Amino acid sequence: MKIGVLAVQGAFIEHINMLRKLSEIQSLQPECVEIRQKKDLDGIDGLILPGGESTVQGQLLHKLELFEPIRSLIENGLPVLGTCAGLILLAEELEGDATKHLATLPVTVQRNAYGRQLGSFETNAPVGSFADYPHVFIRAPYITEVKDGAKILSCVDGRIVGVEYGNQIGLAFHPEMTDDVRIHAYFLDKVAAACRPENR
Ligand code: GLN
Repeated sequence: MKIGVLAVQGAFIEHINMLRKLSEIQSLQPECVEIRQKKDLDGIDGLILPGGESTVQGQLLHKLELFEPIRSLIENGLPVLGTCAGLILLAEELEGDATKHLATLPVTVQRNAYGRQLGSFETNAPVGSFADYPHVFIRAPYITEVKDGAKILSCVDGRIVGVEYGNQIGLAFHPEMTDDVRIHAYFLDKVAAACRPENR
């Protein structure tokens, strides 16, 4: 199983470390590929879009000719996990902003929704069926609208901060900056399921 981690900007190392940690404790042995150019996408079974700066990442996707190939892989069912800036890249719409990135996830997202200075904090809340998941927010967005039956995975203080829609998971927080492997393990299970011949 080959997992691509977009590695053009931002907190991609943390995701790679998380996958390495998981391969020590799980039977699924993901091979990690850092995605920096089009050919890195060859043969990946899943993709992680890390946190960072979504405007810069969006521009780099175009410059490196990664934008269209990634968009079409996601539209064709490639499992994808987007965290923070990654969620912003996936979102169909940005609140009060005409910018569109990949726009494959039917949600509206407010960038820097907690304010730029006080926007970093940590709290515990459930994510889907996982109790007490540590949520690390860093200049985080939240989701202001969920459309087309996208499933809400996580809410903090009445704000939606995690969703799942078919092959896509979008989180406003950073599971890769915790010791809790449950979300990455869940994502790998999703990738494994998509790899089964009957689901191809
Ligand atoms: N504020 C960043 C953005 O808008 C996201 C922050 C993050 O990924 N930690 O792109």
